[in-house]
Amino acid sequence: MLELREFGVSIETGDGTASVRGSFLMNGTGLTFPLVRFAQSSGVSILQNIVVAKLCKNGDGVVGAVGFDRMNGEVVAFQAKSTVLTTGGAGQIYSRTDTPVGTTGEGYAMAYEAGARLIDMEFVQFFPFGLVEPGLPMFLFNPGIVEMGRLVNSQDKEFLREAGYSPGRDFVQHRDTLSKLICTEIHEGRGDQDAVLLDLKKPKETQYSLSMLGEFKEIKQKWLSKLDLTKQRLHIAPLVHYFMGGIEIDENGATNVPSLFAAGEVTGGVDGANRLGGNALTNTIVFGTRAGRSAAEYAKSSPRFTPLDSSGRELDGYLSELRRTPSAGSRPREIRRRLQKMMVKHVGAIRTGETIENAFECLRELRNDLSRTYASNHWEAGEALEVEAMITVSEIVTRCASERMESRGAHYRLDHPEENTDWLKNIVVERVGREMRICTRKTIAKSSSG
Ligand SMILES: Cc1cc2nc3c(=O)[nH]c(=O)nc-3n(C[C@H](O)[C@H](O)[C@H](O)COP(=O)(O)OP(=O)(O)OC[C@H]3O[C@@H](n4cnc5c(N)ncnc54)[C@H](O)[C@@H]3O)c2cc1C
Repeated sequence: MLELREFGVSIETGDGTASVRGSFLMNGTGLTFPLVRFAQSSGVSILQNIVVAKLCKNGDGVVGAVGFDRMNGEVVAFQAKSTVLTTGGAGQIYSRTDTPVGTTGEGYAMAYEAGARLIDMEFVQFFPFGLVEPGLPMFLFNPGIVEMGRLVNSQDKEFLREAGYSPGRDFVQHRDTLSKLICTEIHEGRGDQDAVLLDLKKPKETQYSLSMLGEFKEIKQKWLSKLDLTKQRLHIAPLVHYFMGGIEIDENGATNVPSLFAAGEVTGGVDGANRLGGNALTNTIVFGTRAGRSAAEYAKSSPRFTPLDSSGRELDGYLSELRRTPSAGSRPREIRRRLQKMMVKHVGAIRTGETIENAFECLRELRNDLSRTYASNHWEAGEALEVEAMITVSEIVTRCASERMESRGAHYRLDHPEENTDWLKNIVVERVGREMRICTRKTIAKSSSG
């Protein structure tokens, strides 16, 4: 039992269960801040500004990791008897996302390079109601506010209600369907600047609804105060919010690679094809605890640390090369922007065989551009490493989206629009030699009785 009374949170983990009391579900920082304080007070070292770039292996097992310090460019190496990856998702491979800028997917890329299996990577969750107002930062829009206004297409039709859906009532369970319906309006030419429109013009309701903006309410209100909502409609479109897919783990957070564990959004398979709202933080607590325990037990049973391989020297060489050779190539940030836009266009909430083929072509070009990029400072070198991981993750998502010839949950193929029971399978990705190997495996239906 972990009591963080100061913050009004208590976490109790038993075998297979976690019970959490507190307000964190409404606000993730309510969970993060107390846990950081608790870790610090327990003597855990927290290193800032280190970008971990590669897992080191000795034989089959992971024996540590290497990364570099963004502030001074120094390569750092960590020896570890066991390693837990908790690097979060990869929302940043898309330009339309509400995820933090650091959500670039290195965990998936590192695990894949180290031989770990990834599953369900085609299932990328879009949050249906994102503000995409030109000139303002993107952020999630509270479905309760959308409910109070009129969400319309360019022909002023309330298309969600006409299809029998209510933004407020249905968003927890039907994020996939709502996102698909909004993207269909845009795709079929009834959008406005790649968005649909939220009409909040009735002044009384607007006043009330803006008090419900949720997390970071004051900042969002400040941005919105630049607009006159009694005259202007807001642009709304789905934003990438969560990765249902990720590293395959067993019930104790172990991967198929010895001494490598994982927990949280970087793992796959916990939520199936469409995560229900509110489950992600519970996932981090349940599987974070289990993975931590298993990793600690594994480490205790290992007699000694294993020397690291040559990864540190290789990373140092690569970073020096990046900084030494200004070329005619694109800068990392430019490659990142092109990748993000391309993924929204070709492997977004609506996909077809044709758009996926286009994505493969673009990814080949982007990888080629990356081989000629350069960095003028340490920070930019970090961006180059990030974009390399982002391209790898995009390749994996695109391969899986290409493979699944049906529509299910967050994966919607316009050329295969129906769910098909033959596809009650997980798509599994693994690196074998230099090749990406894909296979399918029958999904094991889990009953509540065990
Ligand atoms: C706007 C928003 C609102 C949300 N609201 C809810 C909600 O109400 N309820 C809910 O259940 N879920 C919610 N979610 C989802 C949930 O917040 C995430 O799924 C969850 O935080 C993931 O936790 P994590 O620990 O796995 O990863 P993260 O919280 O993403 O943490 C990963 C950490 O790893 C670090 N990292 C990544 N790569 C590297 C690297 N190479 N080297 C060093 N460090 C690295 C990152 O900097 C970060 O600190 C929300 C998500 C968003 C974006």
